[in-house]
Amino acid sequence: MAIPTIAAGNWKMNLTHSEALNLLDSLKECPCPDNTEMILAPPFVYLYEMVKAVPSNSKISIAAQNCHSETRGAFTGEISAEMLASIGVRYVLVGHSERRMYFNEGDEILLKKLHQALAHQLKPIFCCGEPLSQRQAGTHTAFVSEQLKQCIFKLDRAQFSQCMIAYEPIWAIGTGETATPEQAQDMHAHIRSLIHDHFGAEIAQSTALLYGGSVKPNNAPTLFSLPDVNGGLVGGASLKAADFCKIIQAG
Ligand code: PEP
Repeated sequence: MAIPTIAAGNWKMNLTHSEALNLLDSLKECPCPDNTEMILAPPFVYLYEMVKAVPSNSKISIAAQNCHSETRGAFTGEISAEMLASIGVRYVLVGHSERRMYFNEGDEILLKKLHQALAHQLKPIFCCGEPLSQRQAGTHTAFVSEQLKQCIFKLDRAQFSQCMIAYEPIWAIGTGETATPEQAQDMHAHIRSLIHDHFGAEIAQSTALLYGGSVKPNNAPTLFSLPDVNGGLVGGASLKAADFCKIIQAG
């Protein structure tokens, strides 16, 4: 089955309650091409209301930006996958570079988060990507391979088939600098070949690989048309309805 194009918006720690609902209302009016799906990842406090505000037959799904690595217990301030699933959230970001960098999330904890998400029928969007130093040293491919092998590739085939991967070179996140189409395609093709080696041809062909890193209305059409790019994980441009709607139209 052909993979739909996915435009996922990561709102990060932005927007007041009214701003978030206004943005959702505007995006509900955005015409979504037949083969395109929209995923919105607002801050936790807006999730419940947003799930309720999106009709079940809509092309919009709601994602969380994170979940905890344990099922429940004495983890003050944390949110579990079970809670997210219980309010109708469908996806969860795991391993965003900001979580890795500012919250010291490494392979072991991220694998536990993947297990938690999957145990509660949340679909993980697993983020990977190299820092600028690795890109400059020419070791970016090996770096990303290790990120996958030490974490998400430890899932079994059935579990992995529920996941998407977002390749987000850290040097392109929030910087306005985008990977060139060649850089994006090369890494995505490499990731797909690794999936092929670990999980076989069928899974490799059906896994959605999203590109993230300064996706904007002007570069989305080229990026989304690359053979191994199935859409984007979008930060800054997903906060502006007009921009994100144009990105969705690129699908
Ligand atoms: C992100 O945070 O996942 C991201 C890609 O951000 P931006 O689009 O702002 O670079």
